[in-house]
Amino acid sequence: MRIVREPGELEFSGRPVGFVPTMGAFHEGHLQLMRTSARENDCTVVSLFVNPTQFAPHEDLSKYPRNEARDAELAESAGVDVLFVPTVDTIYPRQTTEVHVSGVSERFEGVVRPTHFAGVATVVLKLFNMVRPDRAYFGLKDLQQCAVVRRMVEDLNVPVELRFLETVREHDGLAMSSRNVYLAHEDRTRAPRLYQVLAHLASTLRSDPHASVPSLVDDASAQLRSEGFEIQYLALVDPKIMEPSAIFHPGCRWIVAAKLGNIRLIDNVPV
Ligand code: AMP
Repeated sequence: MRIVREPGELEFSGRPVGFVPTMGAFHEGHLQLMRTSARENDCTVVSLFVNPTQFAPHEDLSKYPRNEARDAELAESAGVDVLFVPTVDTIYPRQTTEVHVSGVSERFEGVVRPTHFAGVATVVLKLFNMVRPDRAYFGLKDLQQCAVVRRMVEDLNVPVELRFLETVREHDGLAMSSRNVYLAHEDRTRAPRLYQVLAHLASTLRSDPHASVPSLVDDASAQLRSEGFEIQYLALVDPKIMEPSAIFHPGCRWIVAAKLGNIRLIDNVPV
């Protein structure tokens, strides 16, 4: 595996090229994306870049877990050919043009984190233009991010095929996340309830597609609040447009964002 720090060094021996953008602190969720790309492409490129523009000033940029040596070992074991580790100055030599993806960026995460998706869309487009991949791989754990990237690629005619892979979970159901290590011990034991409640909502709606979505939301929110979660949103959505849905429809998903202590968790499941 080659470690590359400058975009000018991004040359590949074979095509198709698969690309996995990440912020590092690799876990099985990241490794699944890398292994899938390695299976489906001649060359797999992973970027490791903690993108400052997708963090708000009060968020955890400086505390974000970083360990390049460990990540490089894991990436190599997952079949990655090139690990692209640019500096902030390489990606942002100056204040940059921004990509705003209207509509799908605006609800849910867009309300809680108003500057987040412009940061994501801008860096993803810059990375696409540096790497020029044939395929790019994203995790459905970040459902709205998938919708934003899909819409950007469609609207700006970006020549890349997008692949979205299902969320990898801990044995107790908690969605893997680089931030899980920051959960206090007691919160870590409570955290899987978020997934359990979503899974229950999904099975309830599958068995009774005419069930009242607002009352399911109310009951599940009350349950989670009573267990110490601070709910930021809980909704049934059409994942392509990230609009709330009042009734069951094929492809819909339950999404949630909640805080446990100071740690923010997001998750979603298909119905
Ligand atoms: P991050 O390093 O958090 O920016 O994530 C890099 C990529 O890994 C994104 O496409 C995420 O959606 C994906 N990812 C993060 N956690 C998981 C997970 N538990 N399962 C699957 N994909 C994930």
